[in-house]
Amino acid sequence: MEQTTSRSNKKKVAVVGGGLVGALNACFFAKRGFDVEVFETREDIRRANIVKGRSINLALSHRGRQALKHVGMEEKIVSQGIPMHARMIHSRNGKQSPIPYGKKGQYILSVDRANLNKQLLTAAETYPNTKLNFDYKLQDWSAETGLMTFVRSDGLEEQIKADLIVGCDGAFSAIRKQFLRRSRFNYSQTYIPHGYMELTMPPINGEFAMKPNYLHIWPRNTFMMIALPNLLLEHLMSEKNKTLPLVPCDTLKRDYFRLPAQAMVSVKCTPYHIGDKCVLMGDAAHAVVPFYGQGMNAGFEDCIVFEEVMEQFNEDFSAVLPEYTRVRVPDDHAIADLAMYNYVEMRAHVNSKWFLFRKCVDNLLHFLMPKTIIPLYTMVTFTRTRYHECVERWQWQNKVINHGLLVSATGLVLGGSYLLIKNPPDINKLIIPAEKMWNRLMALRTP
Ligand SMILES: Cc1cc2nc3c(=O)[nH]c(=O)nc-3n(C[C@H](O)[C@H](O)[C@H](O)COP(=O)(O)OP(=O)(O)OC[C@H]3O[C@@H](n4cnc5c(N)ncnc54)[C@H](O)[C@@H]3O)c2cc1C
Repeated sequence: MEQTTSRSNKKKVAVVGGGLVGALNACFFAKRGFDVEVFETREDIRRANIVKGRSINLALSHRGRQALKHVGMEEKIVSQGIPMHARMIHSRNGKQSPIPYGKKGQYILSVDRANLNKQLLTAAETYPNTKLNFDYKLQDWSAETGLMTFVRSDGLEEQIKADLIVGCDGAFSAIRKQFLRRSRFNYSQTYIPHGYMELTMPPINGEFAMKPNYLHIWPRNTFMMIALPNLLLEHLMSEKNKTLPLVPCDTLKRDYFRLPAQAMVSVKCTPYHIGDKCVLMGDAAHAVVPFYGQGMNAGFEDCIVFEEVMEQFNEDFSAVLPEYTRVRVPDDHAIADLAMYNYVEMRAHVNSKWFLFRKCVDNLLHFLMPKTIIPLYTMVTFTRTRYHECVERWQWQNKVINHGLLVSATGLVLGGSYLLIKNPPDINKLIIPAEKMWNRLMALRTP
């Protein structure tokens, strides 16, 4: 593990929530030399028999990898993931067609959520200035004093004070509740109508049940199913599907009818901070629907952005926290909107010929002008271009490309008409004699 910076006057940072973002954040703060304590309501998942939580596998991409790299974890996590080079679209007639995610060699990684969380907790613990506390549920806290009240599973309460409280306690954040009591805090949450369900498809004869290096999608317009390799995960969206392909085992069917569908929420808020005392990160600040595979990646990028602002403002929390809000809010709101957009793209647009044609045009133009035209997915997934800039650029590119296609189509029609007028074909050769036509029709009827 990397060396920590030595500090003469250590400030205490309390990270509330030891999930993916909390555990990684603890590494970031510890690396800077802060006195870090993590408070997690669950038991230590490294010792638990069953790990409760959402989604078995997650798609890790560039932003998340960059954050892991900062704390020396990238190689380890990447080596345990499965590269996914393309979406594999399963159409109703059983046909499978891949849509590559980017250029040759570009891929996202399927990683095991529980394993990633465990490794991040272990990494945080290796810093001598970090302490992990499990079975600590935050009940209340004071923005004025930084005093937090935790409840243990035996009912005992404990009060702890910190210089900075970092709320990484997920989409239903207890830390955020204090924000809601304050004026000038903007907050919105949207539940999408679909629910999700996770099923595990076991290997067949010791082999992957499906081609492993793809993210498999069954887009059915009003709902969809997704599968990630490794511990195979499938999300079945809303209505019951009677025509699901590749459902060979009884376990899968049994689970489908037994498990309740989970809700999916998108949360937007601003500001992310209160004074110099508290800041929200990860899902606590911006829960997004999972269709862009960016929730965790965005949360991990929060840690890098905070780190960059800390560097810029010499760890002065009174300047760092407002600047963090200023820089990060537009980007997190943009990825929340993009995730909603992908909710439709994945289940419906991928079935459209126009969408597939536009994807080809985008890829071709990207190949010809790699710096001018960059597909949206590439910007979001394989770069650290700010999310809101990705959206602005995408809108500009769409305008230019659609305009170009319109001009080309008009040119083709006008050019073709001009050629026809200039060199009119012999009309008699084009007209099939009625008798010949009748014979052809009769031939079609004969078996
Ligand atoms: C089905 C699904 C698929 C997804 N797929 C992807 C994907 O492919 N790629 C991607 O990047 N993202 C994906 N995401 C999003 C990703 O799961 C989240 O963005 C990520 O888990 C956020 O991490 P977090 O640490 O902020 O929150 P969480 O993972 O929710 O962790 C919060 C932690 O806080 C603890 N906690 C809660 N309340 C308290 C309290 N009062 N006191 C103390 N501790 C508390 C919880 O126990 C938990 O450990 C997916 C999400 C879903 C639902």
